[in-house]
Amino acid sequence: MIQKTLHLSKIILANDKEAIIGGGLLIEDSKIISVGKKEDFGDLTSKNFQIIDHGETLICPGFINLHTHLLYSKLNLIDGSDGLFPWLKELIDSTLNWREKDFIASINYGINQALSSGTTYIVENTPNLLSVQELAKGPIKALIGLEVFGSNEEEAEKTFQEALDFNSKFSILNSQLNFTFSPHAPYDVSKPLWEKLTHWSTGNNKPLLTHLEESPQEKLWWQRKSGPGVDFWKNINRLEPKLKYWKKYKSGVDFLNKNDLLSKNIIATHLSQATKEDLLILKEKNIKLVHCPRSNFYLNNGTANLKFWNELGFLWGIGTDSNASNKNLDLLEELRFAINQQKLVYNFSISAKDGFSAITSNAAKIISKDSYIGYLKSGYCADFLIFNIKEKSGCTYSDPYHLLIWDLNSNKDLKEVWINGQKAWLAKHVLHKI
Ligand SMILES: [Zn+2]
Repeated sequence: MIQKTLHLSKIILANDKEAIIGGGLLIEDSKIISVGKKEDFGDLTSKNFQIIDHGETLICPGFINLHTHLLYSKLNLIDGSDGLFPWLKELIDSTLNWREKDFIASINYGINQALSSGTTYIVENTPNLLSVQELAKGPIKALIGLEVFGSNEEEAEKTFQEALDFNSKFSILNSQLNFTFSPHAPYDVSKPLWEKLTHWSTGNNKPLLTHLEESPQEKLWWQRKSGPGVDFWKNINRLEPKLKYWKKYKSGVDFLNKNDLLSKNIIATHLSQATKEDLLILKEKNIKLVHCPRSNFYLNNGTANLKFWNELGFLWGIGTDSNASNKNLDLLEELRFAINQQKLVYNFSISAKDGFSAITSNAAKIISKDSYIGYLKSGYCADFLIFNIKEKSGCTYSDPYHLLIWDLNSNKDLKEVWINGQKAWLAKHVLHKI
């Protein structure tokens, strides 16, 4: 018989109801049976379930990181003050001497960093099978997009077939992983290749992950066919097909729009350089957006206008991007940075509760997983975090979302991470006590 377990905690943030003070989370196998006040569970001395009393803690759903590249986790932040293309060249150069074992170590470093800061679901972009292979060994769930590049229109069919072959190898590994494509960016994927990927995504009802309107240097390319992008492509031998096939457009969004490539399945990351005109087009096409504020900051790419995103009613979430353009993969830190920066740049206030939704429930909606994760409710996956709030006992708990976002640190206060009803990570200092 499968044992039911009741997790008791001072505060439970279930996400579809008010915060529960003095609550319980009843789990059976990998799923949640019910969530409520401790007294709702009746006689706790009966043997209906095992009880784990976590004491002075806060329990919330696991965090969802909507944009990463785990391959580069072990690279320290690469100087991005000259913008995207010089940074991309540095990125390529930094890993030139890496062997397979270096990439594998880097991926695992990233997986551990994500898990130990409360990430239970990750949206990964990868050019090869390595991160799939490593993610398949661990508890983190993931949507993995195979990165597709292709500047030459004549090679679109070949590139697409190769990508399909690759994708079929993905799907055999693990049921916790979902697979799709990541056309890298409009400036790197030719029109016929985009058409094939769009057709595939619509037919298979899969998201398409892409970088969009990330840097001022992209705009220079689209509008004038000049700037650091030209040097970069010359360097990697891709300039010729680009000059041959790419016409001038106002932006990447303009290119996608005029070529009828803006499918609603697109999940677009960055938009730090999107104009209001771009955003109006994207909204009309129901595109979902991902904000990576620290990556945009370190690469000198400005920042997205979340005030305008909200006015237009976009569904948006947050990603950390990779450690090559960030300091770590900690989503709470990313969120705090986002909230502070939006206040500073746009005088736009994001409440702790809205910020929390961006890394849990709204993120789940973006990847169409909101019937499984992002909430603590009956029938959902038992993916949750336990934070120690013992030292915060002076607080009134009047705003538990504020407590979580502003007073807790994942590296200090995160005690346990549970995925599918199993302990997936445990803080070291807790281990010592046992
Ligand atoms: Zn990225």
